[in-house]
Formats: sequence, structure tokens, C-alpha cells
Amino acid sequence: MKLPGNKTKIIATIGPASMEKKVLEAMIKAGMSVARINFAHGNFEQHEKTIKRIREVSERINRRVAILGDLPGVKIRVGEIQNGSVTLHRWQTITLTTRDITGNEAEIPVEFKDFPRMVSKGDVIYLSDGFIAMRVEEVRDTEVLCKVLVGGTLFSHKGINVPNARMAVDAVTEHDMEILNFALEQGIDAIGISFVGSAYDVLKVRRFVEEKKERVFIISKIERPDAVRNFDDILCATDGVMIARGDLGVEMPIEKLPILQKKLIHKANVAGKPVITATQMLESMTEETLPTRAEVTDVANAILDGTDAVMLSEETAVGKYPVETVRMMAKIARTTETYRDSLWSSRIADWKIVEWKEKMPRKGTIKDAITRSIIEALNSLSIKYILTPTRTGQTARLISRFKPKQWILAFATEEKVANSLMFSYGVYPFLVNETSEKEILSLIKGLGLVSENDTVLLTKGTPIGKTAGTNTIRIFTVG
Ligand code: PGA
Ligand code: MN
Repeated sequence: MKLPGNKTKIIATIGPASMEKKVLEAMIKAGMSVARINFAHGNFEQHEKTIKRIREVSERINRRVAILGDLPGVKIRVGEIQNGSVTLHRWQTITLTTRDITGNEAEIPVEFKDFPRMVSKGDVIYLSDGFIAMRVEEVRDTEVLCKVLVGGTLFSHKGINVPNARMAVDAVTEHDMEILNFALEQGIDAIGISFVGSAYDVLKVRRFVEEKKERVFIISKIERPDAVRNFDDILCATDGVMIARGDLGVEMPIEKLPILQKKLIHKANVAGKPVITATQMLESMTEETLPTRAEVTDVANAILDGTDAVMLSEETAVGKYPVETVRMMAKIARTTETYRDSLWSSRIADWKIVEWKEKMPRKGTIKDAITRSIIEALNSLSIKYILTPTRTGQTARLISRFKPKQWILAFATEEKVANSLMFSYGVYPFLVNETSEKEILSLIKGLGLVSENDTVLLTKGTPIGKTAGTNTIRIFTVG
């Protein structure tokens, strides 16, 4: 077998443009590792069909694909507008109402009953990804009277952002819990929590999953100022994070995004938790066969920042060229990755810039020390692969954070664990019955991945004393 050309994981959102089996197949072959379903659109029947389809194609062509489902959270939206849109002019007054009406020049319906209780006089409200802005003048029972600051054409169902909102409700709603329940029944691999505000939101999901005796990989979407403020605690509670630049770029000053992206990626790397950079990565490919220079550079820079995964949204959900977009992403990744390994391990080793050490796997834990010494060994020896039996996936993730240039072949006995590793840079997971050295070697020899005289590094968890889990490294030449 041949391993993929790119180690950066590609997450592609599935939508009308990518529902056909042959499109899905081509996207997987082009390098898609994770298929993302946005539970904000469609119904359970459709989602079930999509999940089945992805599984079916992935099994038929024998390529592992993890499925991520995003809980919608409290994404507030505009309702139906007469003829689909209305043009708003600067300084005009407009009423946002929670009454069930069709929108017009004077009144716009908002699909969220608690909306008037979230805002106060003076707040700025952004609509349509921030392209339209208005200031709250007066709040009534079901109405919010506003003055337009930046005009434009407002279409039905566009999103509303209120950066200073008082969250009257939990970020994870009752409706989210119903979706979560459905997703678990469907055996989904990962859940994205939208608009996470604090670690509490993550723990609420985790508790629910544990009560159901299920396992799911939890991705916290960082897209609110609260989430940025509480990032360290969220990072402790979650399995992975997504830098959801779409909403984040409306809720925070847009010019802060580049540095924020670097900081969040760095922290996630140190913690050994996968981080996804999302939104508008190859946006122009929604319509065109080629991306812009700026987009290509953005993808490459996210990789150099240390991202584990890059994500496509509209590009693959509703775009004209879903397969070509995945192919382009894989090409950028492949070309860029070669330049980052040496750069990276030294930056993670720099613990001085991380003030919250005590919460994280760090100097002092056995796994941390072991994974650090692996990097030493890789630098001084010619090693072909890192072989990692892993029960929870953690050892593989702690090695992956250093972004080594060798593939990390991970061996898991649980499908959910193997699939969760589809988010981590440079990890190629195998599902096996047994993780003994003998089994692993015979598997990779059988696949033609190693031949005689290749040197490999194997991590082991040899029970000794009170120590369980990975505690040993063996480096040997295959006979
Ligand atoms: P969304 O999340 O696509 O579900 O809105 C990503 C983002 O906000 O960037
Ligand atoms: Mn979002």
C-alpha cells in the first residue's frame, strides 16, 4: 500500500455538491480524511442517508474516513424576507422582531425568541457575516429597534452576530442535545460544538455522551470572544479545537485573526490536541477552478503555524469543484509540509511561552518525556516509521504535535479511536485485533510498508511496577 502524499488532514463539508457517491469517492481519493456534516441544515432523515453513504463509499474503496457532525448551537438567523431580500440604507431605522412575520423594509424577523433579552441599547449587531451593521436604539418585549450603520442587501436566513451578547441561554441547547442523541445513535465519530463559551459547554456534551456509554471525539469551535477568553480551560476539557474563522471574524476585530490563529494553534500543539483551521481557506474555488494567491498562501501559513487539519466549507458543500478543491488543498499541504518539521519541534520545546503548563501534559509525565525523546531519536537516526499501539489515541497525538516528517502508524483496537486519529497531523491509523509487536510487524510487512533493513521506532506500554500506558521506546531494524 501507499500512504497519502499529505500529512495535513483535510476536512470537507458535505452538501448538495458532494452527495453523489462518485463525488464522495473522488474526494476521498483526493485526500479527504474527515467528512463534515453541518446539522444546522437538513433533517434527521437526510443526515442518516448522508452518513450511510459516506460509510458505504469509504468501505467499498477501503479508505478510512471519519465523520464529524456540527451541533448548530445558538446561531441566530434572520427569517423569511419578502422576495428573498431587502436593501438596507445607512442611518435608516429598522425593527428586528421575534414575531412570526415575513420581512420587509421596516421589519425583519429573527428566529430566536430570546433575542430581545440578549441585547441592550448601544450594542452593535452584525448581519450577513458582518457585511451589515446596526446599532440598538431601543429594546421592547418582542422588538429590537435599530439604526443601520453599514447598509447592504440582506437575504433571508442570513446569520446574526452580537459580539457583546448576554447569553441568556446555554451554548448547547436542548435542540443540540436531541441532535447529539441522534448522532450517537448513528455512530458518529466526532461532534463539533458551535459557539462554545466555556469548558462547561464541553463538559455538558461529554457528560451526556458518557451517560449513554458512548464514545465520541469532541471538537470545540472557537468562534466567540468568550471562547478566546476561556480558551485554556476549554482546551483542557475538549479533545480537539476548531478555529472557526467565519464567526470569529465577525465577533472579534477581523485584523486580530492572524495572530489569534497562531496563538491558539500553538497552545493546542503543546497540549497534544488536534487543531483545525476553518473557513474561507479556498473560498474562490466555490466558483472558480483555481484559488487566489492569497488563499493558497493562507493554507500554507496555517500549516506552518502548526495546524493539524484544514477545512473546506462552501467549497465542497455547494461549490462547483468539490473534488478539484480537495485536490488543490492536498497539493498545497504536500508542498508546504516539507518545510516545517525542524522549525516545529523547537517551538513546542519552548515551554517558556506557555504560562499554563501545570494543566497540560508536560515535562514530568512519562508520556510527555517519551514522546519528546522520540523526536530526539528521529533527528539523529534514519527512521522510516513511528509505530504506535494506542488505546485512547493519546500517545499518537502527543507524537503528532511535533509534526515529525515520518508517518506515525497508529494501531488501535477500537474503530472510534482509529477514526479520531483522522484529525491528527501525520497519523495513519489502523484498526487491529491485537497490538502485539509481532502482529504489528507482520501487518506492515504484509502491506509492503517496510522491507528488510528498514529501521523503525516502536512505542510500547510494558506493564512494570505501577506504570501503565506508553513507557518504552524500541528502535530496531526489520529483519
Ligand atoms: P460554521 O463554523 O461553518 O458552522 O459557521 C465555522 C466558522 O464559523 O468559521
Ligand atoms: Mn460558525
